[in-house]
Amino acid sequence: MKSIGAELAYFFRGRLRQNLKVLCLYGVFLLALILAYALLFDYLMWRLEGRDFSLTASIYWVITVMTTLGFGDITFHNDLGYLFATIVTISGVVFLLIILPFGMISLFLAPWIEQRLRYRPALELDEATSGHVLIFGMDPITASLIRKLKSRMISYVVVTPDHQQALHLEEEENIRVVCGSPTDQEVLRKVRVGQARYVIANLSDPENANLCLTVRSMAKTPIAAIVNDPEHVDLLRLAGANQVIPLPRILGRYLATRATTCGALAHILDSFGDLQIAEIPVYGTPFANQTLAEARIRQRTGLAVVALWERGTLQFPTGEAILHPEALMILAGSREQLEQLEQLAGDQSREELVLILGHGRVGCASAKFLERKPVPFILIDQLANPDCADHVAVIGDATGRYLLKQAGIEQAQGVIVTTNNDNTNIFLTLSSRHSNPHIRIVARANDDTNVEQLYAAGADFVVSNASVGASILSNVLESKESVFLTEGISVFRRPMPPELAGKTIGESEIRPLTGCSIVALEPADGSPPLIVPPPEQQLQANMGLILIGSPQQEALFAETFSTAAG
Ligand code: AMP
Ligand code: ZN
Repeated sequence: MKSIGAELAYFFRGRLRQNLKVLCLYGVFLLALILAYALLFDYLMWRLEGRDFSLTASIYWVITVMTTLGFGDITFHNDLGYLFATIVTISGVVFLLIILPFGMISLFLAPWIEQRLRYRPALELDEATSGHVLIFGMDPITASLIRKLKSRMISYVVVTPDHQQALHLEEEENIRVVCGSPTDQEVLRKVRVGQARYVIANLSDPENANLCLTVRSMAKTPIAAIVNDPEHVDLLRLAGANQVIPLPRILGRYLATRATTCGALAHILDSFGDLQIAEIPVYGTPFANQTLAEARIRQRTGLAVVALWERGTLQFPTGEAILHPEALMILAGSREQLEQLEQLAGDQSREELVLILGHGRVGCASAKFLERKPVPFILIDQLANPDCADHVAVIGDATGRYLLKQAGIEQAQGVIVTTNNDNTNIFLTLSSRHSNPHIRIVARANDDTNVEQLYAAGADFVVSNASVGASILSNVLESKESVFLTEGISVFRRPMPPELAGKTIGESEIRPLTGCSIVALEPADGSPPLIVPPPEQQLQANMGLILIGSPQQEALFAETFSTAAG
């Protein structure tokens, strides 16, 4: 179904769209011709035979004659009528039966077939290519990575053995592809593996191992491999991968740190030189339910509260804003200042219970993380996990409300919703929120498109497979410490748009126009950044801007302001 849709979409794009206009004009001409004949038919019948026909009957007559069907139920009985019918028949043959199919074939079918036949996937890269990222395996993770690479102007190539997939990626997704087997040395030579910046192995674990061995036999290019089974990490290292990313385990730990206050030290979201952007949950700190002014975070630590993140929305707070326990503070400052805050916040661990819904690879990793803290947890899964001998899970479908209640959803402090089915996750989020309005809900989105629904259902934090994977990979590529964001927050650096130089922050209207907020200004002379500058601060050309916003607001910033800064 999907491919028919894609074909149709292709059909009505570009040059073919132009041809569609011609077809429409021809359609109008045919309609006009039919109408003119119908009126003439009506007139001739009345004049020659004294018979009166409705417009519908006249059109019916014209169409049956033009298409040479000629039922013969309405006929003329004199020469002029015969002549008229003959003309209508001949013009029908010419306009409907010859020109129309011919036009359809030459304007649509032929260019389309030609296009398909002409497609020859690239089989090698240019001799001069170097510094590119080679990607093996397309899934939502690599698709998200490619979007990041594109926006950072880093060149990449996807290598796939599948001709059909290559065509689809190139035509529909505008992704650069070379066709060939990932484990064929000849293919790897042709994609210039020796000159590449990085190899991303995102196939199955055995295929990744084979790919690593093949690459290693030819070049020293660093390899980052995503593994599905945490047990395979060592094997992939042995095969030659420099970075092995056990995604389910990372995801599981990350979810666990979010579900409890114990691991809830500041998460570094991003760093720009010495400036760290970090997030820390309000829940469990002494600041809970205080106003921002009362908490005096800046006075006590020097950290600026850049934004508050509350159940999927980003807010830029004033002093009167209340720090709700379910909110997350986004802070800017130095690493030392963050450590100071962590000491202030204290390790407020106390008796708590976390429910883990889903004891697959991710849920098991969450459990292992909590075990070490230690935080008591209850695992629920509809099936026993054959790869885990360490945990005893409650076996049952977690969507049965009674089961959650029995497990203690009403008393628990946190719940980690991590089944492999997003509908189930949305449902479980709804039902957990319904049973316990104060519980901290951390949910996994298997598909990026479900992030919003999970927030709407009442989740406090949503983490998606694809964006965590893509963030880790892009950090690996840029040799950054591995960090990743909560879904929906983006911290980004931009050169000063020329039209803003000389204006104050207030006059720039960055926030009203785009929704983004300035986290810091980086002076051109390399002096320390101005963190959360006041609205009177003047923007100068060549200053660097560090902004925070949702990914949509980031895109809006790019659309609103020019990027052609010097
Ligand atoms: P993984 O993707 O490896 O983290 O595995 C996800 C786990 O979620 C599997 O073990 C599934 O059995 C489990 N799961 C899926 N649907 C449900 C459900 N309705 N109730 C409980 N567990 C579920
Ligand atoms: Zn386990």
